[in-house]
Amino acid sequence: MRVVVLGAAAGGGVPQWNCNCDICRAARGAQPELRSTQASIAVSADNAHWFLVNASPDLRQQLLATPQLHPQAGYLRHSPIAGVILTNGEVDAVAGLLSLREGWPFTIYAHQRVLSILKSNSIFNVLDKKRVPRVPIQLGAAFEPRLPDGSSSGLEILPFTAPGKPAWYLEGTTHPEGRDDEPGDTLGLRIADKESGEHLYFLAACAALTPDLRQRLQGAPLIFFDGTLWSNDEMIVAGLGAKTGQRMGHMSMSGERGAMAALADLGIARKIFLHINNSNPALLPDSDERAAVERAGWQIPSDGTEITL
Ligand SMILES: [Zn+2]
Repeated sequence: MRVVVLGAAAGGGVPQWNCNCDICRAARGAQPELRSTQASIAVSADNAHWFLVNASPDLRQQLLATPQLHPQAGYLRHSPIAGVILTNGEVDAVAGLLSLREGWPFTIYAHQRVLSILKSNSIFNVLDKKRVPRVPIQLGAAFEPRLPDGSSSGLEILPFTAPGKPAWYLEGTTHPEGRDDEPGDTLGLRIADKESGEHLYFLAACAALTPDLRQRLQGAPLIFFDGTLWSNDEMIVAGLGAKTGQRMGHMSMSGERGAMAALADLGIARKIFLHINNSNPALLPDSDERAAVERAGWQIPSDGTEITL
């Protein structure tokens, strides 16, 4: 199984269009290597057909930068993209669907709660449902995403619930699927190669490490985990926002209940942070925070990082 990190940043990316924090300023100027697009990965079992996990608003730029996702030679119209699996309905996970509207067949897989968000926003009808079917996926039910001709992808995906929140823009409104206290707005995924059994976990948004999750992640070969903030009140302290990480549905990297501590003793072979906000000091290669991340055995990926399992 092959994985490409298409983007590693949280909503807004690095730099964020309207942000002049130290990191965004550096990314715009002296340290262009800090630039990062909004979080998404691509996975493939056969190195020919690819599935995106989330479709970020930066998708067009990500596709351009990723040769594996370019149209195949010999076809006038073609894309290696066979499907998109959505783990939530946030803008940074779904807006990229609009960039896939030029008539290529693929399948959207998402929980009913996220599908109902797409349904309630008529702009997504630019994706003709005959050519781009929307398939509901269920918590705890593994499925094999199919290629557009119905054949096998060689992948098996198990969606499970991740502690989180419905999309921000739904706050104060009625969720299009109804009740607010039901799971399904935020998913974690276990993605496996059916033949080799190699697998990874994708949890780019996670508000807490529950006992269930701890057990699930024990001994995992590879995990992509929520790296939005270094500390829970980072946005407030920096004067960038009024919400804590917890309020936004994200664990922080540091602290007693942060991701580094919570996942330290689970025997996970490779740990990669994803969905990293531009306010997070661990983005700076020479920061104390980056040193602590690396000491704890975690990696901050650059866009385009490739992993073969
Ligand atoms: Zn910034």
